[in-house]
Amino acid sequence: MAVPATDPPVPLRSGVLGVPVDVCADVFEAALALRDRGGGQIVTLNAEMTMAARANPELGRAIAAADLVIPDGAGVVWALGRQGHRVRRSPGIELARRLLEHGASHQWRLALVGGSPAVMERLVARLRAQIPGLELVLTAHGYQPVEAWSALEDRLLAARPDLVLVALGVPRQETWIHGLAGRRGGLWMGVGGSFDVWAGVKKRAPAWMGALRIEWLYRLVQEPRRWRRMLALPAFAWAVLRDR
Ligand code: UDP
Repeated sequence: MAVPATDPPVPLRSGVLGVPVDVCADVFEAALALRDRGGGQIVTLNAEMTMAARANPELGRAIAAADLVIPDGAGVVWALGRQGHRVRRSPGIELARRLLEHGASHQWRLALVGGSPAVMERLVARLRAQIPGLELVLTAHGYQPVEAWSALEDRLLAARPDLVLVALGVPRQETWIHGLAGRRGGLWMGVGGSFDVWAGVKKRAPAWMGALRIEWLYRLVQEPRRWRRMLALPAFAWAVLRDR
């Protein structure tokens, strides 16, 4: 079968190293269409997460069952390009922000879960100041004691949110959202370190580093403890080059 050279209007499920990823013209439109179909899980896939999914079956299952998997990361875009898919990189932090702003102007019920207690406090204050009309039906930091999670889930589901952004880190945010399948409606999206950036605690790499595809280097300098996790990046490149 011929592989389309440009982004199709509706998401086309492709894959990188056996991990699914959707190729679509506009991830924002795809997310809105998903919400119109009743909602679902959005995953933002990068190289590190692809390798994690190959090593962690629970994460692999969560991604395979996700309703929209967007290419967030130069490595995934490069790997798709080798298969003939010319896609734009779609940073999850940008999609999440657009959905928040769209939700605020469309009376969506919004929920935020994750980040440290201090980050969540600053985040809520900042978002309320920056985005008029934001209806936050539930906010909860991500360091609740284990026994508190079940009641939090019940409150969250009872609040019937249209959009839930979840910053618990990979793989926990993906597997937690997946574990609520069948009980949840609306859009649910893992957003990694986005809350830290929006709260002003961490910075995104400058655009020129993104253009040079060395955002990982910026992240490594900001968070040197990530070096071990980042060994996944050369492993990813090597696996893609060997993959037929
Ligand atoms: N986090 C959390 N609870 C935890 C572990 C992490 O809320 O038990 C938050 C953490 O504060 C940060 C986010 O999850 O805001 C993870 O960010 P990171 O940049 O590590 O994301 P990843 O690279 O794993 O997607």
